[in-house]
Amino acid sequence: MSEINERIERFKTMADANPQDELGHFSLGRALMDAGRFADAIEPLRRAIAINKNLSKAYQLVAQSLLKENKQGEAVATLTEGVKIADARGDVMPRNEMVEMLKSLGAAVPELKAAPTQAVAVGEGQVLCKRCGKLAPKLPGQPMRSELGKQVYENVCAPCWREAIGMGTKVINELRLDLSDPRAQTVWDQNIREFLNLT
Ligand SMILES: [Zn+2]
Repeated sequence: MSEINERIERFKTMADANPQDELGHFSLGRALMDAGRFADAIEPLRRAIAINKNLSKAYQLVAQSLLKENKQGEAVATLTEGVKIADARGDVMPRNEMVEMLKSLGAAVPELKAAPTQAVAVGEGQVLCKRCGKLAPKLPGQPMRSELGKQVYENVCAPCWREAIGMGTKVINELRLDLSDPRAQTVWDQNIREFLNLT
């Protein structure tokens, strides 16, 4: 079985075993998109949103999948909802990306509460975080010695990294990953990257 199909099977198992856990559905949808199966990706991503309506990134992925299926009207509706949710939560990166998608579709952009990100002065011990879009405390050093560890240190704030660790632990437990296996390491890395908006 190819790596991507193996990943899809693992997440399917995870989603089936924990139907009320948004992470399994979200990861399954993401993996299906990676496999080019956009029509199949929409349902698990929508299920993730049904469980946690604040999952702003999921709206963006649903809209991307809908566009691949030439469903522009539905994509615009999903993006409009997603922009509002992301704006209310302060998820700046997904919000701005969805605003750009609406503009490129010639659709109206909902009125935004939070001001768009501007150039900000990053102080000592701070980072402009790619996940939350805020200027926030930096980690004291690289959390891992890998390339991912370097990217995390340079692009992610300490609070978001703590959240990612919690999520990563869940993925490892749910999928019974053995991180000495390079393929399991890839699955873990991919989830963390997605969660931290590093891809
Ligand atoms: Zn952050």
